[in-house]
Amino acid sequence: MASNARKRVVILGGGFGGVFTAKHLQRHAGSGVEIVLISRHNFFVFQPLLPEIAGGSINPGDGVTPLRRFLPGVAVMVAEIRELDLGAKTVHVTLGGEPGIRTVPYDQLVIALGQVVDLSRTPGLADRALVMKDVMDAFHIRNRVLGCLEDADATTEPRRRRSLLTFVVIGGGFTGVETIGEVQELVRKSLKYYPNIRPDEIRTILIQHGPRILPELPEHLATYAAEQLRRRGIEIRLNTGVEAATPAGIETGSGPPIDAETVVAAIGNAPAPLIRSLPLALEHGRIAVDRCLRVHGQDDVWALGDDAHIPLGEPNGDKVAYAPPLAQFAFREAKVLARNILAHLENRPLTAFEYRSLGTMAALGGRSGVADIMGVRISGFPAWVAWRLFYLSLLPGIATRLRVAADWLLDLVASRSIAEIRAAQSASRQVRCLAGDLVIEPGIDPGGVYVVTAGMFEVGAGPDAAADPDARAQPPRKVGPGGHFGMPLDGAATPTNEWVRAREDSTAYFIGKDDLQRLAMVSALVGRRADGAPMS
Ligand SMILES: Cc1cc2nc3c(=O)[nH]c(=O)nc-3n(C[C@H](O)[C@H](O)[C@H](O)COP(=O)(O)OP(=O)(O)OC[C@H]3O[C@@H](n4cnc5c(N)ncnc54)[C@H](O)[C@@H]3O)c2cc1C
Repeated sequence: MASNARKRVVILGGGFGGVFTAKHLQRHAGSGVEIVLISRHNFFVFQPLLPEIAGGSINPGDGVTPLRRFLPGVAVMVAEIRELDLGAKTVHVTLGGEPGIRTVPYDQLVIALGQVVDLSRTPGLADRALVMKDVMDAFHIRNRVLGCLEDADATTEPRRRRSLLTFVVIGGGFTGVETIGEVQELVRKSLKYYPNIRPDEIRTILIQHGPRILPELPEHLATYAAEQLRRRGIEIRLNTGVEAATPAGIETGSGPPIDAETVVAAIGNAPAPLIRSLPLALEHGRIAVDRCLRVHGQDDVWALGDDAHIPLGEPNGDKVAYAPPLAQFAFREAKVLARNILAHLENRPLTAFEYRSLGTMAALGGRSGVADIMGVRISGFPAWVAWRLFYLSLLPGIATRLRVAADWLLDLVASRSIAEIRAAQSASRQVRCLAGDLVIEPGIDPGGVYVVTAGMFEVGAGPDAAADPDARAQPPRKVGPGGHFGMPLDGAATPTNEWVRAREDSTAYFIGKDDLQRLAMVSALVGRRADGAPMS
């Protein structure tokens, strides 16, 4: 329970808003205030650097800051926040390996949970696309790109090669532009190690719904950025919406479908379900707060960062400007919010949040960038240097700054690592096949079962009819969504002469032999319980 003597401030979220609120409180609050920060991870992710992690110029561990080191004196709780009870003034969380819900009481609550990626509006995209929100997302993209180069180097099948060597980023805002720039740079720098891939086989495509990229920047800088990207061979498709994602790639409103193994969605920011479930007023999916960052209708609840709708200045006619979802704003909001919580606890007047952006910048990869700093517009190499220096200065903690600076210096003189690091994981995964792909060869152990989720497969016995039509012994059977092939589910021996080929672009969920055995064991147990049989 929060003690009566000390006031407990509970901060939800370990991103820009939460961490810097905790930092300012820790600096300025006296011993009468206890600060608790609850977040999913025990580190802070500096999101503007994620494209560089995806591009391999920063190691993932170097681009994050451990919360316990950066926030001495703050009680850091690594937990999943499940529910808020604003009436009882409690937060419900699940902690590490502990079963059950833990209740954390608060006197003052700060909500800084950011936003989530929601791709549900485009059919198939959520299953198909990689996203760029967290450090593991960025690392995953890097590994996927390198994995595609490895596979393309080994395969001679033309459509498969094309798909593996096509890299698509959807969304032409900062995140999308910086990601495509870094992906292209990673591929370009890695190609010398892949003798079987020609540079002209690589396609990098940026898809933007609107008429230009970087709508946040003045038009001439955005035009410059587009020229730079095009000069490096990046295709930019403007006024193009993605209508669906398929096993093979994506379908756009204009032009033929694009076969691509790597599709990154830099779109779809949306409020987290937890935020939507709160009995709080939302405006444009964000929590409505006043200019002092206090949540409407709540005395002891505050919000900032991407999940808050913060008015900037007094209404001008009916026009009110709102703080954009940017790190530089969350960083400043945190200072005002911390000051206001302390003022509120001491019955002093609150301060309104006011901040004018100092400018905007984007790194384009290839040592080039664009920037508009207090009206001064720069581009090319100077903008790239300004971008790096600015973000280096914002990074929390000297150790993180030194590590990122060292990574960047190393990147100037040494080649990037092309190690494709895959965490030890179960073999089970989603498998995408292009029409004609041979999934199981006769005589090869399939290693598990494939459950078809989309498309159609042909399963035959004996010689592969597609490889040798004259040798067709019996017509192959078709297996569509819901069906399965590979290892028999009843544990019988796998036929050794079976082959499977995708009839059309298709997906299946592959369940490895080990997982299958675990599933069988669990379902046997569940079955016994349902039958009322005694458990040993
Ligand atoms: C790839 C990328 C590039 C960007 N580049 C720039 C840029 O160049 N310049 C700029 O100004 N801005 C940039 N931004 C935007 C900027 O990063 C955000 O505006 C900023 O991070 C918002 O801070 P926040 O604290 O609101 O949310 P976040 O930083 O997203 O933090 C939210 C925190 O809450 C935690 N959390 C959420 N839900 C739960 C839960 N249920 N339980 C436990 N913990 C939870 C998360 O793990 C996270 O730690 C970029 C964003 C991205 C994704």
